[in-house]
Amino acid sequence: MKTIGIIGGMSYESSIHYYERINNQVNVIAGELNCARMIIYNVNFQDIRKLMVNNEWDRIGEELANIANVLENAGADYIVIATNTMHKLADYVQSKINIPLIHIADCTAKKCKERKITKVGLLGTRYTMTEDFLINRLKDNGLEVIVPNDREEIDEIDRIIFDELCKGNVLDESKKYYINVINKMIEKDKIEGIILGCTEIEMLIKDGDVKIPIFDTTQSHIDAIVDYSLEKNKN
Ligand code: GLU
Repeated sequence: MKTIGIIGGMSYESSIHYYERINNQVNVIAGELNCARMIIYNVNFQDIRKLMVNNEWDRIGEELANIANVLENAGADYIVIATNTMHKLADYVQSKINIPLIHIADCTAKKCKERKITKVGLLGTRYTMTEDFLINRLKDNGLEVIVPNDREEIDEIDRIIFDELCKGNVLDESKKYYINVINKMIEKDKIEGIILGCTEIEMLIKDGDVKIPIFDTTQSHIDAIVDYSLEKNKN
Protein backbone atom coordinates (compact mmCIF):
# COMPACT_ATOMS: atom_id res chain seq x y z
CA MET A 1 0.00 0.00 0.00
CA LYS A 2 1.18 3.52 -0.87
CA THR A 3 1.15 6.48 1.50
CA ILE A 4 -0.93 9.51 0.51
CA GLY A 5 0.10 12.99 1.68
CA ILE A 6 -2.90 15.31 1.90
CA ILE A 7 -2.78 19.09 2.11
CA GLY A 8 -6.07 19.73 3.89
CA GLY A 9 -8.03 22.25 5.90
CA MET A 10 -9.39 24.22 2.95
CA SER A 11 -11.91 23.83 4.36
CA TYR A 12 -11.73 21.29 7.16
CA GLU A 13 -15.40 20.50 6.42
CA SER A 14 -14.37 18.88 3.14
CA SER A 15 -11.13 17.38 4.50
CA ILE A 16 -13.25 15.36 6.95
CA HIS A 17 -14.87 13.69 3.93
CA TYR A 18 -11.48 12.89 2.42
CA TYR A 19 -10.28 11.28 5.66
CA GLU A 20 -13.45 9.31 6.31
CA ARG A 21 -14.17 8.10 2.79
CA ILE A 22 -10.60 7.21 1.79
CA ASN A 23 -10.34 4.99 4.87
CA ASN A 24 -13.80 3.54 4.36
CA GLN A 25 -13.33 2.79 0.66
CA VAL A 26 -9.91 1.20 1.23
CA ASN A 27 -11.47 -0.96 3.93
CA VAL A 28 -14.38 -2.03 1.72
CA ILE A 29 -11.95 -3.12 -1.01
CA ALA A 30 -9.12 -4.55 1.09
CA GLY A 31 -11.21 -5.95 3.97
CA GLU A 32 -10.19 -7.02 7.48
CA LEU A 33 -8.72 -4.07 9.42
CA ASN A 34 -7.18 -2.41 6.38
CA CYS A 35 -7.38 1.35 6.17
CA ALA A 36 -5.37 3.95 4.28
CA ARG A 37 -1.78 4.98 4.93
CA MET A 38 -2.08 8.74 4.86
CA ILE A 39 -0.54 11.85 6.32
CA ILE A 40 -2.73 14.94 6.54
CA TYR A 41 -1.24 18.39 6.94
CA ASN A 42 -4.13 20.62 7.94
CA VAL A 43 -3.53 24.34 7.31
CA ASN A 44 -5.21 27.13 9.24
CA PHE A 45 -7.52 28.22 6.43
CA GLN A 46 -7.96 31.72 7.90
CA ASP A 47 -4.26 32.44 7.25
CA ILE A 48 -4.57 31.22 3.67
CA ARG A 49 -7.86 33.07 3.10
CA LYS A 50 -6.24 36.37 4.14
CA LEU A 51 -3.52 35.82 1.55
CA MET A 52 -6.15 34.98 -1.10
CA VAL A 53 -8.10 38.15 -0.41
CA ASN A 54 -4.86 40.18 -0.59
CA ASN A 55 -3.93 38.44 -3.83
CA GLU A 56 -0.68 37.11 -2.35
CA TRP A 57 -0.66 33.90 -4.35
CA ASP A 58 3.15 33.67 -4.37
CA ARG A 59 3.09 33.34 -0.59
CA ILE A 60 0.38 30.70 -0.73
CA GLY A 61 2.46 28.83 -3.32
CA GLU A 62 5.50 28.90 -1.03
CA GLU A 63 3.40 27.67 1.89
CA LEU A 64 1.84 24.80 -0.08
CA ALA A 65 5.18 23.80 -1.58
CA ASN A 66 6.76 23.75 1.90
CA ILE A 67 3.94 21.56 3.19
CA ALA A 68 4.26 19.23 0.19
CA ASN A 69 7.98 18.90 1.01
CA VAL A 70 7.19 18.09 4.64
CA LEU A 71 4.78 15.38 3.48
CA GLU A 72 7.30 13.99 0.99
CA ASN A 73 10.01 13.89 3.66
CA ALA A 74 7.58 12.18 6.03
CA GLY A 75 7.21 9.33 3.56
CA ALA A 76 4.30 10.25 1.26
CA ASP A 77 4.34 8.52 -2.15
CA TYR A 78 1.75 10.91 -3.62
CA ILE A 79 0.58 14.44 -2.86
CA VAL A 80 -3.05 15.55 -2.87
CA ILE A 81 -4.32 19.12 -2.57
CA ALA A 82 -7.81 18.70 -1.13
CA THR A 83 -9.36 21.76 -2.78
CA ASN A 84 -10.00 22.82 -6.37
CA THR A 85 -9.03 26.46 -5.95
CA MET A 86 -5.54 25.67 -4.68
CA HIS A 87 -4.92 23.75 -7.90
CA LYS A 88 -4.16 27.23 -9.22
CA LEU A 89 -0.75 26.41 -7.69
CA ALA A 90 -0.63 22.71 -8.58
CA ASP A 91 2.05 23.03 -11.27
CA TYR A 92 4.20 25.13 -8.95
CA VAL A 93 3.85 22.65 -6.08
CA GLN A 94 4.57 19.74 -8.43
CA SER A 95 7.75 21.49 -9.62
CA LYS A 96 9.03 21.64 -6.01
CA ILE A 97 8.61 17.95 -5.11
CA ASN A 98 9.87 14.61 -6.40
CA ILE A 99 6.63 12.63 -6.03
CA PRO A 100 3.48 12.88 -8.20
CA LEU A 101 0.59 15.17 -7.40
CA ILE A 102 -2.83 13.62 -8.08
CA HIS A 103 -4.68 16.42 -9.91
CA ILE A 104 -8.36 16.85 -9.01
CA ALA A 105 -9.37 17.92 -12.55
CA ASP A 106 -7.88 14.79 -14.14
CA CYS A 107 -9.81 12.57 -11.72
CA THR A 108 -13.08 14.40 -12.43
CA ALA A 109 -12.62 14.47 -16.22
CA LYS A 110 -12.07 10.71 -16.12
CA LYS A 111 -15.52 10.28 -14.49
CA CYS A 112 -17.14 12.47 -17.18
CA LYS A 113 -15.50 10.44 -19.93
CA GLU A 114 -16.62 7.17 -18.35
CA ARG A 115 -20.20 8.49 -18.66
CA LYS A 116 -19.44 9.72 -22.22
CA ILE A 117 -20.22 13.29 -21.27
CA THR A 118 -18.15 16.03 -22.89
CA LYS A 119 -20.10 19.29 -22.47
CA VAL A 120 -20.13 20.21 -18.79
CA GLY A 121 -20.99 23.14 -16.58
CA LEU A 122 -18.53 24.08 -13.83
CA LEU A 123 -19.37 25.66 -10.48
CA GLY A 124 -16.75 26.63 -7.93
CA THR A 125 -15.15 29.62 -6.26
CA ARG A 126 -14.76 32.82 -8.27
CA TYR A 127 -11.10 31.84 -8.90
CA THR A 128 -12.10 28.47 -10.31
CA MET A 129 -14.89 29.89 -12.49
CA THR A 130 -13.18 33.02 -13.80
CA GLU A 131 -9.54 31.90 -14.15
CA ASP A 132 -8.29 29.21 -16.48
CA PHE A 133 -6.23 26.88 -14.23
CA LEU A 134 -8.97 24.28 -13.72
CA ILE A 135 -10.94 24.97 -16.91
CA ASN A 136 -7.84 24.45 -19.09
CA ARG A 137 -6.93 21.24 -17.30
CA LEU A 138 -10.47 19.94 -17.92
CA LYS A 139 -10.23 21.07 -21.56
CA ASP A 140 -6.87 19.27 -21.89
CA ASN A 141 -8.82 16.18 -20.87
CA GLY A 142 -11.21 16.66 -23.81
CA LEU A 143 -14.10 18.44 -22.09
CA GLU A 144 -16.03 21.49 -23.23
CA VAL A 145 -16.49 23.63 -20.12
CA ILE A 146 -19.19 26.25 -19.51
CA VAL A 147 -19.17 28.57 -16.48
CA PRO A 148 -21.76 31.11 -15.32
CA ASN A 149 -20.93 34.52 -16.82
CA ASP A 150 -23.19 36.77 -14.77
CA ARG A 151 -21.09 38.74 -12.26
CA GLU A 152 -23.75 38.69 -9.54
CA GLU A 153 -24.21 34.95 -9.95
CA ILE A 154 -20.47 34.32 -9.69
CA ASP A 155 -20.29 36.48 -6.54
CA GLU A 156 -23.22 34.68 -4.89
CA ILE A 157 -21.94 31.18 -5.72
CA ASP A 158 -18.56 32.18 -4.24
CA ARG A 159 -20.13 33.83 -1.16
CA ILE A 160 -22.16 30.71 -0.35
CA ILE A 161 -18.96 28.63 -0.44
CA PHE A 162 -16.91 30.80 1.91
CA ASP A 163 -19.62 32.24 4.19
CA GLU A 164 -21.71 29.08 4.57
CA LEU A 165 -20.35 25.76 3.27
CA CYS A 166 -16.78 26.21 4.57
CA LYS A 167 -18.38 26.71 8.01
CA GLY A 168 -20.59 23.65 7.65
CA ASN A 169 -23.81 25.62 7.09
CA VAL A 170 -26.04 24.00 4.47
CA LEU A 171 -29.03 26.26 3.79
CA ASP A 172 -32.15 25.46 1.77
CA GLU A 173 -32.21 28.84 0.07
CA SER A 174 -28.59 28.36 -1.10
CA LYS A 175 -29.40 24.92 -2.44
CA LYS A 176 -32.30 26.44 -4.41
CA TYR A 177 -29.97 29.14 -5.71
CA TYR A 178 -27.45 26.59 -7.01
CA ILE A 179 -30.16 24.40 -8.55
CA ASN A 180 -31.56 27.44 -10.33
CA VAL A 181 -28.12 28.33 -11.75
CA ILE A 182 -27.61 24.75 -12.97
CA ASN A 183 -31.09 24.61 -14.53
CA LYS A 184 -30.40 27.84 -16.41
CA MET A 185 -27.17 26.36 -17.78
CA ILE A 186 -29.05 23.23 -18.87
CA GLU A 187 -31.63 25.39 -20.63
CA LYS A 188 -29.35 27.99 -22.18
CA ASP A 189 -26.01 26.23 -22.70
CA LYS A 190 -27.29 22.67 -23.15
CA ILE A 191 -24.78 21.26 -20.69
CA GLU A 192 -24.92 17.46 -20.33
CA GLY A 193 -23.37 17.27 -16.87
CA ILE A 194 -22.40 19.57 -14.02
CA ILE A 195 -19.03 19.54 -12.26
CA LEU A 196 -19.17 20.50 -8.59
CA GLY A 197 -15.76 22.17 -8.82
CA CYS A 198 -15.37 23.03 -5.18
CA THR A 199 -14.90 20.39 -2.52
CA GLU A 200 -17.76 21.70 -0.33
CA ILE A 201 -20.54 21.91 -2.96
CA GLU A 202 -21.38 18.21 -2.57
CA MET A 203 -22.76 19.14 0.87
CA LEU A 204 -25.39 21.23 -0.93
CA ILE A 205 -26.12 19.50 -4.24
CA LYS A 206 -26.82 15.78 -4.46
CA ASP A 207 -27.57 13.28 -7.22
CA GLY A 208 -31.16 13.74 -8.34
CA ASP A 209 -31.35 17.46 -7.47
CA VAL A 210 -31.02 18.26 -11.18
CA LYS A 211 -31.89 16.22 -14.25
CA ILE A 212 -28.31 15.84 -15.56
CA PRO A 213 -25.45 13.80 -14.05
CA ILE A 214 -23.44 15.43 -11.29
CA PHE A 215 -19.66 15.09 -11.22
CA ASP A 216 -18.39 15.79 -7.75
CA THR A 217 -14.71 16.70 -7.60
CA THR A 218 -14.38 15.56 -3.97
CA GLN A 219 -15.62 12.04 -4.63
CA SER A 220 -13.77 11.78 -7.96
CA HIS A 221 -10.55 12.78 -6.20
CA ILE A 222 -11.19 10.31 -3.38
CA ASP A 223 -11.88 7.43 -5.79
CA ALA A 224 -8.58 8.07 -7.57
CA ILE A 225 -6.69 8.40 -4.26
CA VAL A 226 -8.03 5.01 -3.17
CA ASP A 227 -6.80 3.49 -6.45
CA TYR A 228 -3.35 5.03 -6.01
CA SER A 229 -3.27 3.97 -2.40
CA LEU A 230 -4.05 0.36 -3.30
CA GLU A 231 -1.70 0.55 -6.30
CA LYS A 232 -4.49 -0.05 -8.80
CA ASN A 233 -3.34 3.12 -10.51
CA LYS A 234 0.34 3.64 -11.23
CA ASN A 235 2.00 6.95 -11.97
N1 GLU B 1 -12.63 23.93 -1.07
C1 GLU B 1 -12.88 24.92 -2.05
C2 GLU B 1 -12.46 24.45 -3.42
O1 GLU B 1 -12.49 23.26 -3.67
C3 GLU B 1 -12.61 26.33 -1.74
C4 GLU B 1 -11.62 26.62 -0.69
C5 GLU B 1 -10.34 27.14 -1.25
O2 GLU B 1 -10.30 28.32 -1.61
O3 GLU B 1 -9.39 26.40 -1.35
O4 GLU B 1 -12.15 25.21 -4.29
